[in-house]
Amino acid sequence: MPKREIYPLSAKDLTPETIAVTFAKTSRSPLSFREIAAELTDEKSAQFHEKWVVGYGHASVAEHAVLHIAFENVSRLAIETIEGNRLASYTEKSTRYQKWDADSFWRPTELEGIPLGHDYNNTCRHLFQSYLDSLEPLKAVIAQRYPQKDGETSARHDGRIRSKYVDAARYLLPASALANVGMTANARVYEHAIRKMLSHPLHEVREIGAEVKAVSTKIAPTLVKYADEKPYMMETNSALEDTLDEMFKTADNPAWLELIEHTQEAEEKFLAACLYRFGVGSFREALAQVRPMSRDQRDALLNEALSRLDRFDVPLRELEHVTYTFDSMMDQGAYFEVKRHRMMSQTPQRLTTELGYATPSLITAAGIEKEYHAAMALADKTYHAIANEINPHVAGYVVTNAHNRRLLMTLNLRDTFHFCRLRSAPNAHFGVRYLAHRMHEILMETHPTLTRYMLWDRAETWEDVLENNFDSLR
Ligand SMILES: Cc1cc2nc3c(=O)[nH]c(=O)nc-3n(C[C@H](O)[C@H](O)[C@H](O)COP(=O)(O)OP(=O)(O)OC[C@H]3O[C@@H](n4cnc5c(N)ncnc54)[C@H](O)[C@@H]3O)c2cc1C
Repeated sequence: MPKREIYPLSAKDLTPETIAVTFAKTSRSPLSFREIAAELTDEKSAQFHEKWVVGYGHASVAEHAVLHIAFENVSRLAIETIEGNRLASYTEKSTRYQKWDADSFWRPTELEGIPLGHDYNNTCRHLFQSYLDSLEPLKAVIAQRYPQKDGETSARHDGRIRSKYVDAARYLLPASALANVGMTANARVYEHAIRKMLSHPLHEVREIGAEVKAVSTKIAPTLVKYADEKPYMMETNSALEDTLDEMFKTADNPAWLELIEHTQEAEEKFLAACLYRFGVGSFREALAQVRPMSRDQRDALLNEALSRLDRFDVPLRELEHVTYTFDSMMDQGAYFEVKRHRMMSQTPQRLTTELGYATPSLITAAGIEKEYHAAMALADKTYHAIANEINPHVAGYVVTNAHNRRLLMTLNLRDTFHFCRLRSAPNAHFGVRYLAHRMHEILMETHPTLTRYMLWDRAETWEDVLENNFDSLR
């Protein structure tokens, strides 16, 4: 019997493209991976990719070439497109644990040299100044609630309470705020990401797309070579936008979280999927077996399937056969966190000031509500001026973290277990905690027998989160 061997292909010795070819060749070659790699040169790898990946469309080979790319000083609006790629990993500068300087905002090329550019700069400066001015009064309120301990330095004390006051201050930051993000993904994802960026309506994003293409071409020259702007993406998006923009304009109904659709017979389908997995019959037969089961029999099965779950366990995949569609509205700061949940299908609406804005109660407690509302009014005025004169995409840069955003989410039950546990935890931001608790409550009402196994933070309800953290949501 040949000896089992498990070993890494070193990214220090082999380029990402050579690693990809090494794996691809095992499909036809009897040689070991080491032997295949030893025969390869950069040129041979490039030729292979030109023939198989580009020529014959065997695109999955590019997934073995992994690239780590650092993005610095890109706007949070641009980050939305960068992070819009599901099959990738990201870590970004946090609005909760870091502070922003007064000048850290993007100046859009679209506004260069026109009077509106001055209004834009003044608005962003004003928002950043309001953010900086809010830090001390907000900190003073939090410091009263969480006083410095004996022997604790001021720096340590600030470190302990910082996220609590920055959580409220961040509402004043606009989407033009510059941030850093690290992205790890494979060349197939980058190829798609570059195409999307090059086809984007914002100049900044198109520039970033060109830079990503330039740096990734140095690492994986063949695999992203043909990533260009796509007329399909540009024309379809702008045609839909032109057709639908005027057709659908109602900003009145605030669906904070509304369950639009869910799997019928969810319990039966989940149990039948479990039977199916461990049996040999068809799914139709499994369903037929589950349907007549008594409550006790079903509970016993559910118990076997779900009761052993602990905090860090991943529940059975069979939960993915139960899905939910939610319409939601949340502040932009909360959306920025929710968008990171890659397993959901998400359709966000464009950034706008038309859905109103949230006001954290800490703002009022710190006595800075007048300044806060004045900053929001200025953002709204500049948003409308830019949306009318240029377009709503560019206007999105002045929309703050406080402004509301609508999001359509379709997710499965397995993902709700993860989302509700992670985002209802006491260390989650209250904007997202509110959503996670509300989602949990709706799920409990809809599918009580399945969701009773969910682990989530029971210490508070969504009403508590609202009452303790917000003066108003709109
Ligand atoms: C308290 C807190 C602080 C945070 N601070 C920051 C921060 O400062 N900066 C920042 O950038 N982010 C931060 N995040 C976001 C966090 O890192 C996650 O990106 C985000 O919560 C999405 O959740 P998830 O990673 O569990 O993945 P989801 O996308 O929700 O996926 C669900 C599950 O699928 C699996 N999965 C999905 N994709 C992959 C993958 N590529 N590889 C392996 N498994 C995968 C994992 O099991 C994952 O838990 C913070 C989150 C919390 C809760």
